[in-house]
Amino acid sequence: MADFYDTGIIGGGPAGYSAALHLAQNGKKVILFEKENIGGVCLNKGCIPTKAIMHVSELYKEMKNCENLGISAAEIKLDYNKVKERKNKIIETLRKGIELALKNSKVTVIKENAQILSKTEIKAGEEIFNCREIICAEGSSPKAIPNIEFDHKFILSSDDILELETLPQSVLIIGSGAIGTEWARIFANFGVETTIIEIASNLLPLADTEVSKRLERIFKSNKIKYFTSTGIKEIKNKQVTLTNDEVLNPEIILLATGRKPNTKTKIEGVEYIGDTAGEIQLAHYAIKQAIELSDNIPFRKDLTPSVVYGSPEIAWIGKREQDLEGGEYKKSLTLVSSLGKAHCDNQTDGFIKILTQNDKILGAHIVSKEASALIQQITIAMQNDISASKLKEVCFAHPTYSEGIFEGLFKL
Ligand SMILES: Cc1cc2nc3c(=O)[nH]c(=O)nc-3n(C[C@H](O)[C@H](O)[C@H](O)COP(=O)(O)OP(=O)(O)OC[C@H]3O[C@@H](n4cnc5c(N)ncnc54)[C@H](O)[C@@H]3O)c2cc1C
Repeated sequence: MADFYDTGIIGGGPAGYSAALHLAQNGKKVILFEKENIGGVCLNKGCIPTKAIMHVSELYKEMKNCENLGISAAEIKLDYNKVKERKNKIIETLRKGIELALKNSKVTVIKENAQILSKTEIKAGEEIFNCREIICAEGSSPKAIPNIEFDHKFILSSDDILELETLPQSVLIIGSGAIGTEWARIFANFGVETTIIEIASNLLPLADTEVSKRLERIFKSNKIKYFTSTGIKEIKNKQVTLTNDEVLNPEIILLATGRKPNTKTKIEGVEYIGDTAGEIQLAHYAIKQAIELSDNIPFRKDLTPSVVYGSPEIAWIGKREQDLEGGEYKKSLTLVSSLGKAHCDNQTDGFIKILTQNDKILGAHIVSKEASALIQQITIAMQNDISASKLKEVCFAHPTYSEGIFEGLFKL
């Protein structure tokens, strides 16, 4: 008979390792099961590797176009193997950090596929582990669409795309959610001929419509070809016919049409958190769910920020303008090109949009360098019911992108 644990956790992604660390730090005896790598999709196949590659792609593009900044480089060469090596090193460093934190917190980590037998029993290998409570944080996997399956050679998932030996000449991306949009920007930065299609009428369908429209402009200026309200009619011998009858011959396809929870059957009495819970599939949401459980700190699920990386970044929180249409609301739109810092950085594209109702901030939609950081300011204000007029009392540093928020408040 194995030891008895307070909490058994399946899955070592952000949901699982956060729950494990916090519970252990709260004095619980915790056991964590991970069948692949600690860090989960986020660290090994998602958030981190894509942003590591994104960073290099942006630098590469910037260096190729830096003559107007007063820099001329004779020859800029790309070694994609080194890009991947660096990405792997980042993953390894961060993974070691989490593993060390788990060790220091005395979490028992079992590198095995685990199965929940009941609300107090987990089976891994031949052993059964008894736990007072079980948290399932099994995560999610890439989801295909009807009639199009991953073949992992021509039709690739977001996992496969990280394993490419070399960059393709051309790519077709199906789906313009965060994953599709980020990869479109990465490929285009590297000079790959990039096309993205979206079945919904707007790019980034979950975003505010004005953001989606701005993304069209960004795609155009980055030579990314896009089609909205467009699906796949047929894929035959690597030739793709779109529903608008456009015919494409991409070297590869990235199918970025969402992710499906890994848990097949839920067991009563077990807590499901993170991607496998089938709610919002974001790492920070998974972490907050874990902390809600471990530390009993509630969070406003409707105030989960979304960020899409690239240059400029895109981020939003709260209500979109299309959600408010028909009702009374105020809107301010501040162009990033009005900000001194943006000119200094050569990053003048974008806007900061704030939506209010009776002085209450209802949402913000930002297309700007540092949008990922800017959105947090609005999130903190909204979480704490800080009104637009109250926020005006805050002193915003100069020159910064935050000044765009400050400016916007006076237009409401
Ligand atoms: C390309 C890409 C980019 C992304 N970028 C971002 C981003 O920028 N920001 C953001 O917030 N989110 C991003 N995400 C989403 C983010 O990765 C997920 O929301 C997050 O990883 C969910 O965490 P999780 O702990 O629920 O699950 P996961 O990270 O999927 O971890 C689940 C873990 O459970 C393990 N497991 C599953 N079943 C078992 C079992 N039976 N036994 C043992 N172990 C098991 C798996 O091996 C895995 O390690 C991205 C995702 C992708 C694919």
